[in-house]
Amino acid sequence: MRRVTVLGATGSIGLSTLDVIRRHPGRFGVYALTANASVEEMASLCREFLPEYAVMVEAGAAVELADRLSDLPQISVLQGEAGLCEVAASEAVDTVMAAIVGAAGLPPTLAAVRAGKRVLLANKEALVMSGQLFMDAVAASDAELLPIDSEHNAIFQCLPADRVRDPRGAGVTRILLTASGGPFRNHSADALKTVSPAQACAHPNWSMGQKISVDSATLMNKGLELIEACWLFNTDPSRIEIHVHPESIIHSMVEYADGSVLAQMGSPDMRTPIANGLAWPERIEAGVAPLDLFAIGRFHFERPDLDRFPCLRLAAEAFQAGGTAPAVLNAANEEAVAAFLAGTLGFTDIPVIIERTLAATEVVAGDSFEIIFAKDAEARRYAREQIRLHTV
Ligand code: NAD
Ligand code: MG
Repeated sequence: MRRVTVLGATGSIGLSTLDVIRRHPGRFGVYALTANASVEEMASLCREFLPEYAVMVEAGAAVELADRLSDLPQISVLQGEAGLCEVAASEAVDTVMAAIVGAAGLPPTLAAVRAGKRVLLANKEALVMSGQLFMDAVAASDAELLPIDSEHNAIFQCLPADRVRDPRGAGVTRILLTASGGPFRNHSADALKTVSPAQACAHPNWSMGQKISVDSATLMNKGLELIEACWLFNTDPSRIEIHVHPESIIHSMVEYADGSVLAQMGSPDMRTPIANGLAWPERIEAGVAPLDLFAIGRFHFERPDLDRFPCLRLAAEAFQAGGTAPAVLNAANEEAVAAFLAGTLGFTDIPVIIERTLAATEVVAGDSFEIIFAKDAEARRYAREQIRLHTV
């Protein structure tokens, strides 16, 4: 029986993870569930999965949850970042699903890595922010890092299992990273200026949390994924080619020196990569609808348009700049997306805020997590100020 901690249990990935776990009661047990503030949802998940620990980040929410679960004294309720790190690193855990959204996920994900867990990485922001340090921490522990992002899980499945960090040695010539193109793939530059948060969150193929939905609409998601792929598969952007594939059936591909191109396909449902990570190297049922290629009929591919979607270019530039630049990119993006969702920033102003923040924040070598967190804070202060100036 594998004992699992689900960080971000009430989110889109967290709930999909619990749905796979629910289908295999003898194989997986839930050790801990965590959420930011949603007490109601956590209470009902705790009643179903009976974890040993439930963690709420907000103090008031933890008190309320403990009160609601007072008839279940076997569940201990913890609070704050310390609680997240404790349940991520506990000796009693085998597998940690890292499914918190944004930079807030880095401390507990890192705690799981340092404790040598099987870490299922959905929280791409954690890796993007701290790239080299994060991968060094994986190498220094016995942690088993398995990608859950559908594209990276597809690439992982198309690589020889023992050459994930050395694809060139395995004869890989290119990684073909697919992208849906998001809900505004065919919008003109002018039409993009007036799109609403509700339109941005209505993704054509995937149902996801709000932040990643907006990232998919700006193509920042693909930018973050380009950086994520470089770190996971020890490669550089010149060997990764982004293919917009609106059907979202091919989740990514790997090209080999002999001309072979291996693709991983499936219905666009995150339970496939989640089940792959939970059970790897075995395969388990995930509740995913079988692929009906006759119904799909055709696949299309096009190049991404960096003029209409400058976030992708900004991400590639930040990776090339190195050091703390990706942490700054990520922090400015999180602030800009939050402002867009709150209705205080226009969609096409998101890349403007990020570009200004990158230009104003000095790049230093990201030699320690303290430096990364300090740059994250500096970039957020600057981005918030720019957002304020932009909206008055
Ligand atoms: P979501 O918004 O649906 O859920 C986020 C979860 O994190 C919730 O449980 C929430 O309570 C928790 N959370 C939010 N802020 C927090 C904070 N400050 N501290 C601690 N916990 C906090 O997000 P999601 O769509 O499930 O995405 C989660 C992560 O997975 C993101 O990094 C996203 O990029 C990645 N991802 C998601 C999908 C998808 O299909 N949803 C696909 C690939 C990758
Ligand atoms: Mg993805």
